[in-house]
Amino acid sequence: MENDPALAIEVVGLEKTYAGSKNSPPKTALRNVDLTVERGAFFGLLGPNGAGKSTLINILAGLVTKTAGEARIWGHDIERDMRAARRSIGIVPQEINFDPFFTPWEMLDVQAGLYGIEKKHRRSDEILEAVGLAGKRDAYSRSLSGGMKRRLLVAKAMVHSPKILVLDEPTAGVDVELRRQLWRQVRKLNDDGVTILLTTHYLEEAEELCDKIAIINHGQVIACEPTEQLMQRMDSKALRVVVDRDLDGVPEALSRDYVVEQRSERVLLFSYAPSRVGAGEILTAIGAAGLGVVDVSTREAELEDVFLSLTSDADESGAGAPGPTATDDHAA
Ligand code: ADP
Ligand code: MG
Repeated sequence: MENDPALAIEVVGLEKTYAGSKNSPPKTALRNVDLTVERGAFFGLLGPNGAGKSTLINILAGLVTKTAGEARIWGHDIERDMRAARRSIGIVPQEINFDPFFTPWEMLDVQAGLYGIEKKHRRSDEILEAVGLAGKRDAYSRSLSGGMKRRLLVAKAMVHSPKILVLDEPTAGVDVELRRQLWRQVRKLNDDGVTILLTTHYLEEAEELCDKIAIINHGQVIACEPTEQLMQRMDSKALRVVVDRDLDGVPEALSRDYVVEQRSERVLLFSYAPSRVGAGEILTAIGAAGLGVVDVSTREAELEDVFLSLTSDADESGAGAPGPTATDDHAA
């Protein structure tokens, strides 16, 4: 392992503008993106639809050509050292795209052939076993369930034993049980030393799996931090309380200690940091202020809140993280 690089992926100043056509203007999908993924990491690239996640992945995969900037995979430049770069990475694409008439075993065998792996070194059965598809070895791939197809894509990406596995929104539209199954498998690969780069638009997924998260929006990386640190910054919840009588303003006993807004005659909205204040404490305070509680609901931070809090942090400090620009024409 002495010769393994410290960085599995290194992206510097990466830009991508898709050429326009008669009916659509050019589209800039990545703006000056810097990103480093350390060897052995489980790294998350989190962002809403249209943020540029697949564009970045597809540049690394050699499927999309960059407009400017540099990228290295396992130390190999994706242009100058393309073959070595491609050998180091396995990509699980966002779209399921394989020939439905091949069996899983045949598909892996063909893929191994594409990578020039000699017959005696092919591990198709072992890989099928690892993704729980040994029993489907000789079935038609079109007969597989959606979850099995996903796992077959993971298997296909692992045929050449890459150091890095990239998964582009592997669980979008997948049900909870299959999602958990896939999470377990990918986690196991990471435990075995494979560096993982996962893109997702689910905050919960990134939080659950990744040890570091970069957030991308409108083609720009607006945050990149260890997961725990990022979650602390998003330590924010809302508690909506319906009380038993009409209010004429927020009682002073409450406004003194809490961030609270009156939303309608009987509705109060508390904003609080769950790491410091419990919802129970707030409810007790409401009782102490002489009000009865009729109904309560809470809301977790969502991806949208994350963007809001990150961009407002930047506003306050007057530095870093620019928000979306006025020229951006798409809604995420
Ligand atoms: P994500 O994977 O985060 O949803 P994408 O990388 O697919 O985002 O897309 C980023 C932006 O680039 C979007 O605005 C998308 O419409 C645009 N885009 C993606 N692929 C192409 C393409 N082949 N031609 C033109 N625009 C594209
Ligand atoms: Mg995508």
